[in-house]
Amino acid sequence: LANDSEFFEASYRIKRRDNNESWVWIVDRAKVVERSATGLALRMAGTIRDITLLKDAEVRLNLQANVMSNISDAIYVMDLQFNVVEVNKAFSVITGLSFEQVENNKRILTTYHGGVATQIQERLKKGLNWVGEAKAERSSGDFYYIELHVNPMLDNDNEVSHYVAAFSDITQRKNTERELRNLSNIDPLTQLPNRSYFQYAHRNLIRRKEPHALLTMDVDNFKKVNDSMGHDEGDKLLCLIAERIDSKINCQHLLCRLGGDEFALLLEDINDISMITQVLYDIEWAMQDPFYLLEEVLVMSCSIGVAIYPNDGETTENMLQSSDTAMYHAKSETGFSYQFFNPSMNETAVRRLQVESMIRQALKNDWFEVYYQPKIDIKTETVMGMEALVRLVHPELGMISPAEFIPIAEDTGLVIAIGEKVLDKACYATQQWRKNGLFNGRVAVNLAAKQFSQEDLLQRIEHIIECTQLPLENLELEITESTVIDNPEAAIVTMQKLVDKGIHLALDDFGTGYSSLSYLKHFPIHTLKIDKAFIDDLAHEKNERHMVASIISIARNMNVSVVAEGVEEFEQLEALRQLNCETIQGYYYSRPLSEMDFTSYLLKNGAMINVGNLN
Ligand code: C2E
Ligand code: CA
Ligand code: CA
Repeated sequence: LANDSEFFEASYRIKRRDNNESWVWIVDRAKVVERSATGLALRMAGTIRDITLLKDAEVRLNLQANVMSNISDAIYVMDLQFNVVEVNKAFSVITGLSFEQVENNKRILTTYHGGVATQIQERLKKGLNWVGEAKAERSSGDFYYIELHVNPMLDNDNEVSHYVAAFSDITQRKNTERELRNLSNIDPLTQLPNRSYFQYAHRNLIRRKEPHALLTMDVDNFKKVNDSMGHDEGDKLLCLIAERIDSKINCQHLLCRLGGDEFALLLEDINDISMITQVLYDIEWAMQDPFYLLEEVLVMSCSIGVAIYPNDGETTENMLQSSDTAMYHAKSETGFSYQFFNPSMNETAVRRLQVESMIRQALKNDWFEVYYQPKIDIKTETVMGMEALVRLVHPELGMISPAEFIPIAEDTGLVIAIGEKVLDKACYATQQWRKNGLFNGRVAVNLAAKQFSQEDLLQRIEHIIECTQLPLENLELEITESTVIDNPEAAIVTMQKLVDKGIHLALDDFGTGYSSLSYLKHFPIHTLKIDKAFIDDLAHEKNERHMVASIISIARNMNVSVVAEGVEEFEQLEALRQLNCETIQGYYYSRPLSEMDFTSYLLKNGAMINVGNLN
């Protein structure tokens, strides 16, 4: 330093002159501040800083990175869209996939069998972890088994920033297990675990006090087949049934043959009844196609009893009793049938399955209709736009409310197909009204959360727009607050893409979610729909009035228009008028109307608004 350079900087360890003579890391920076005429350094000034904490952290990070790359468990890290952003060495060894092959995509999740990926994603989205065994497929087509732990990872602000998955290869163990089981615990006919294995597995569940469901299942009229076609054919039929059901259900569930034509199914990790109804549905589906035996075509069905631990029994014996009792009740019905031991569960499950199968039928037979509810400008009383609301019109049962079937459609993923039908019908109808000079405002279509998170959402919308010829500027999408609040950053990206195309966005059910008003300014929305809950008490309650007033004023500041939903009474309308609310939707002006009725409505009340003049 004295001779050539001006600066000096280095970090090193020094021993402190204190009682315990501890070592500290420092960074030492010095600078020449005065030189002689010949250039010799005369005076220096410098600082030293204690960086022990930083060094410690660095060492720890290095250590972590080392551990991560040397550990024999495979690890991968996903971002909030489930794209892989990091893997360790063991990951590639076990899966045969390089980081480049999985980087920024969901490929690893798609290798898991039996709906595991969906389960994992749903739990993570709720901030919960997922632990279990999964069967995965290599690109070569062979299988391996893993024990997998997936956890949300929190950042410094305690917000979920990533998901971390760790797994070990348990193929060897599984194979050994299977061989061991083969000797004494496998039913030689169907190759399913037998009664003694079932008892062993069930006892384990009970010892761990794991909530679970036990389904016992009996093949209807099996005796007839045995008597008329012989035992060999009967045996074949049992094998076919076992195979079909086993292939339809998730590998985490345990299907056993208890003996004769009786099977048991253990469902672990059940959080709600929809998981059980899903399995019931899968079994019904598995049994739907006929079986072919000795050139005969047999249509078979089964009866199922469901018991839930611990409510319906606390021992294997009691649980079996309960599910058997329920099964005998089910037997009294013809065709595929099931009963829960607990009658109230029955009702919920029955209705859920009914509605689910109704939705599937409705999709097949085009029973969905779209109703339209006008949105009225409060000053001019003209129709500014309308909301498209789906109806399921059952040929025998009549109209089913979306409030009932949309939540079930959301759970089962059917909402995507419904949503597209609605979008298609609404765009088509609106284009007809435009062409006939009845209406040139916007039609608002509800977009479900599952639709919103589709990667190819924009292409799907564009395709429908192309088919129906409705200009994009005549379309508005209603997205609920809860849809965007799950993952605001990703939502903003998607929303911006839609907005860039010229589509209008409305934030639906505002005020019912968790988002604060301050959140609002980050979302690229044009319209805010104040939820009916606020409007209900508007005429009487001071608090509601304050709330609505502040929503409206904030919206105005953000240059966002406001629609009040569910306005039924004149008093509410007047209160909203005083608060300078612009647009009203509700029974006060009109209920949702069928396409035909809405056409008449437009003929009577429609002023030809130009979408270009709307804000
Ligand atoms: P939403 O989007 O909040 O729709 C408004 C609901 O309030 C509609 O119920 C409408 O008929 C009802 N409503 C309008 N004005 C009044 C009023 O003055 N008083 C009362 N009591 N109710 C009023 P609807 O049609 O039964 O729909 C219920 C929910 O189902 C909708 O709530 C929406 O979340 C969902 N939904 C309806 N159609 C679709 C669709 O095509 N796709 C999706 N994803 N969801 C839909
Ligand atoms: Ca809506
Ligand atoms: Ca709403």
